Amino acid sequence: MSDLTPLAAEPTCLFCRIVAGTIPATLVASTPEAIAFRDIAPQAPVHVLIVPRAHLPSLDAAEDPALLGAVLALARQVAREQGIAEGGYRCVINTGDDGGQTVGHLHLHLLGGRAHGWPPG
Ligand code: 5GP
Ligand code: ZN
Repeated sequence: MSDLTPLAAEPTCLFCRIVAGTIPATLVASTPEAIAFRDIAPQAPVHVLIVPRAHLPSLDAAEDPALLGAVLALARQVAREQGIAEGGYRCVINTGDDGGQTVGHLHLHLLGGRAHGWPPG
């Protein structure tokens, strides 16, 4: 390998950049598998995104039950730390076009601090 080998390219995925720290975000928790940061356009008093460090385009691409467990476990931890566990909260994983997914990196929305209606829109 020559000294002129370029460094790894900057990831183009928005959430990969947040994981890498090249785009700022308000981090609320972090584990070896996932990070949790505040949504830039909060839809509830507490709106945190739980994002695996590994790039997976959506839930449909996530074949590792351990990784999915780590995402859920971090959501539960953050809910307790943010003081919404007792009142209740909602976890949402928008998946694909019909699911309303807009960022192509698996993420779980943790929403709390207000009551949520059902059915969702
Ligand atoms: P989706 O629609 O894919 O389920 O959710 C994507 C979420 O990412 C949206 O709630 C949106 O507000 C949030 N988001 C988009 N860009 C940024 C950003 O640059 N920083 C943060 N913290 N959240 C973002
Ligand atoms: Zn990514």
